[in-house]
Amino acid sequence: MVAITEADCTGCDLCIPHCPFEALLPLTENPVERKHKKRPVVVVASQCVGCLSCIGSCPTKALHEILMPPLSTQSPLLLETEDPETATVQRWGKKGLGWA
Ligand code: SF4
Ligand code: SF4
Repeated sequence: MVAITEADCTGCDLCIPHCPFEALLPLTENPVERKHKKRPVVVVASQCVGCLSCIGSCPTKALHEILMPPLSTQSPLLLETEDPETATVQRWGKKGLGWA
């Protein structure tokens, strides 16, 4: 599975198109205590399958792998609360210019 260290995420959005499962999405609002001006991207745990396609896409290394416990049957991210409020992202159509 992957997680994002929010303090290291600048909100550049570069990782978003690297997820084929649309599990990387921007928050709708920037948390008040945040030092960066732009809202962060988060991992939507219910959509992340742990494929690690995104892992090298972050220039600030905010994206990192978290290991699943050996006997776990669900993502450790799902032990937290509900999915956060995330914004919709415009994506290239698969029949258009190709997957971005
Ligand atoms: S690990 Fe795979 S499914 Fe999860 S956010 Fe990264 S690219 Fe998407
Ligand atoms: S690439 Fe890294 S810094 Fe940019 S939005 Fe994604 S997690 Fe945040």
